[in-house]
Parts: sequence; C-alpha cells; structure tokens
Amino acid sequence: MKTNFKKITAILAAAVLSTAALASCGGSDAPAPETTSAPSTNGDELIMGTNAAFQPFEYVTENGLVDIYDGIDVAIAKKIADESGKTLKIEDMEFDGLIAAVSTGKIDMAVAGMTVTEERKQNVDFSDTYYTASQVMVVPADNEDIQSAEDLKNGKLVGVVLGYTGDNIVTDTLGVSEENITRANRGIDIVQDVKNGKLDAVVIDSATGKALAEANGLKVVEDPAAFESEEYAIAVKKGNTELLDQINSVLAEMKANGEIEELAVKYNSEVGIEE
Ligand code: GLN
Repeated sequence: MKTNFKKITAILAAAVLSTAALASCGGSDAPAPETTSAPSTNGDELIMGTNAAFQPFEYVTENGLVDIYDGIDVAIAKKIADESGKTLKIEDMEFDGLIAAVSTGKIDMAVAGMTVTEERKQNVDFSDTYYTASQVMVVPADNEDIQSAEDLKNGKLVGVVLGYTGDNIVTDTLGVSEENITRANRGIDIVQDVKNGKLDAVVIDSATGKALAEANGLKVVEDPAAFESEEYAIAVKKGNTELLDQINSVLAEMKANGEIEELAVKYNSEVGIEE
C-alpha cells in the first residue's frame, strides 16, 4: 500500500482530536460500540503482549520489574494493572503478531512502543498517546555517505523490522527498491548486520535506535524532514471501552504528574542514552 506519511500524520492528528471530542459527547461517528465486550482476562490477570527487544520500552533483563521484563512500557503497564487490582502477565511475541493477538483476545493489550496508524486502527482501538518518537537511521560509525533519508535510495542496503512503521516508510514512502531491503523480527538482530557490514543502514524508532547504536559502536543519523513524528499508544480489542478507560485514566495521571517523563529519563539512562 502506498502511503503518504505527511498526510497520514495530519489525518491522525485530526482523528485523535475528533475521537477525543466524540468520546466526550458520545458522537455517532465514534468507532466504539455502546456495549463493552468482556475483557479476555482470566480472573485477576491483565495480559500485556509485547516484543521485548525494543529498549528502552521493553527488554529482557535479569532482575526485571515484572519477571524478566523491564522498560518504560512495562512500568506503565504495571501501574495500569496495579490500579485495577490485577496482576500483570507479559506475553513476549513477534511485533507483527500483536494486532492479531489483541483482536482475537489472546492478550488484553499491546504495550509495545506501538505507533498509532490508520491501518492499525482498522483492527484495534488505541488509548491516548503517551510518547512521541520518530524514525532514525543507524549506520556504521565511520559512515559519511548517508546524511539523509534520500541517500538510502542510492542502492543502499537497508534493514528494517518486519511490520514496524520503519518498514512502511522505507518500503512505501521512500520507495527503496525491494531487493535492497532486509527484514528481521527484532531490532537487536538487524542492527548486527550493520555492525558486520552486511547492511548500510537500519531504519528504526529513535530511542531504540540510539540505544542499539550505543551498545554496538554505531551511530545515528536523523532526518526530521523525512521522518515525521509518531505517537505511541496502547492497543486494546475493538470495543473494550472498560479497559481503554482504565488505561486512559492511568496515562492521564502519569502524564500530569511527570511520571512518564521520569520513566523515559530513567530507562534511557539505563540503556546508555540521553533523551
Ligand atoms: N513504533 C514502531 C511501530 O509501531 C515500532 C514498535 C516496536 O517495535 N515495538 O511500528
């Protein structure tokens, strides 16, 4: 599908505003049905699906906040679970499978640094947004010929993570030729190919890109004109307004009292980057 990212961002901004307005006055265009479907949680569990290879948002570590998992999203999800009197359970899966897992009720919510997109909104409902990011290019430290996103089109070998917004932008918006694109399931893996010289660049979300560059002796090239801002939100099954309301009230609280910003600072420094 060809997409115009600028246009989508504008539509998205308008959609977020109008959804908020409609939600408060119960407008008939609002996508959520009147009835709330029962949460798929078994008893006291709240099941979060994620792809725990996306630091600083979710990653695996010895002493995680929840089992072996830690990160900004894990901390947010834990707070949502705590405030609804539930135990957070984390299902680590491929990013590309998260939307299906939410819509079939295998998980209650996807908390995965997930960018709100029009396409995803066809299949899930999104919470209010909680973080603004953009794509960046991770390149070798001595790279000089990739200065902008346009440079990726000059026969460069580009890596992306399957189903990420970076994949859509490289494939559809920039139009890098298909034979020059390599797709992997995890950012951690694809960045290794830049390190070992198999790829010229990886296009990935900013915070994760910076963390992976730092950990692997690579560098980040930004191009804000080409890579516009993206908003992260939590995805729930369509019509699950009960859970969505709980999520939104916790996010509102955490935004208002500065907790999300604090988490960003804390986890960015834990993975070796400054915001
Ligand atoms: N923000 C990107 C997306 O939604 C990547 C998210 C992720 O890998 N966890 O596609």
